[in-house]
Amino acid sequence: MSSPDTLEQIAVEIKTCTACRLHLGRKLAVPGEGPADADLMFIGEGPGFHENEQGRPFVGAAGRFLEELLETIGLTREQVFIGNVIKCRPPGNRDPQMDEIEACSGFLERQIQTINPKVIITLGRFSMARYFPKARISTIHGQAKWIRSRLIVPMYHPAAALHQPSLREVVRNDFARLPEYIEQVQDQDVVQEEPPSDPQQLSMF
Ligand code: URA
Repeated sequence: MSSPDTLEQIAVEIKTCTACRLHLGRKLAVPGEGPADADLMFIGEGPGFHENEQGRPFVGAAGRFLEELLETIGLTREQVFIGNVIKCRPPGNRDPQMDEIEACSGFLERQIQTINPKVIITLGRFSMARYFPKARISTIHGQAKWIRSRLIVPMYHPAAALHQPSLREVVRNDFARLPEYIEQVQDQDVVQEEPPSDPQQLSMF
């Protein structure tokens, strides 16, 4: 029988991954960080300039805003897991392409299985699409949905709120609802989410 995954093992594989073109331009891959038993997992888009330099997620301006948002609900970044849909920086911070997201999806899936968080907060449209492929962020942001015994909460990306000041209050209000969601899941035992068996569905991940 194979031994169970650990976040460290997954990170080792991420750092040496050559499955898509993004490995060619990376300085450091960014596996993500946080406790292996975190109740809350944040999934962003992918590393930017600073993340690529440091090998850590959300360490630039968007990260500072994320930390500020966490503080408003009494949390620090050390208490949650912070990861991304893709683990290597796209050139010039362009949007990730579908084949790059697919090449990285197994890592994200294994991280979710290993951490088994009770609440997943998707930040921005690429991580939202993993759970709500047809939805518009402007319609569903802040609204939690049970998906196979996890609460999934789609939110605007903190960087979007930095570029568009009118979104900052929206994001703050969405964050303000998180304690209520955390309360809801406190007594729930999370049943492990099976990876999708339908390849069509997988291709959206
Ligand atoms: N934006 C992201 O989506 N992820 C990071 O790690 C940093 C900025």
